[in-house]
Amino acid sequence: MDILLSIVVLLGLGVILGFGLAVAAKILYVKEDERIAEVAKRLPNYNCGSCGYAGCNAMAEAIVTGKEQSLKKCKPGKEETNFNPIIQYLNEHPNDDGSKVNVHL
Ligand code: SF4
Repeated sequence: MDILLSIVVLLGLGVILGFGLAVAAKILYVKEDERIAEVAKRLPNYNCGSCGYAGCNAMAEAIVTGKEQSLKKCKPGKEETNFNPIIQYLNEHPNDDGSKVNVHL
């Protein structure tokens, strides 16, 4: 009988905590600019940090948010395989207000 009660209590706790986590995930969800992931895909993804950022995702975020404008800070990046595709992508995907992300080599 005690074992059955313990199982019921644990199941109840699991359901309540699972529901709480689901609600918290909905409420606390932060929509990330999808361009950050797209720019990160086009970087070399060595995560070497020689650009001065913690890794390629941090560099991509800085580019998309306008904090970083010089793509050449990514030392292992190549103009044809990395930088030109990033510039092309950002020209095709402007900011919400229609302005373009200001990046250059
Ligand atoms: S220098 Fe380039 S490859 Fe290295 S972390 Fe920065 S963006 Fe990534």
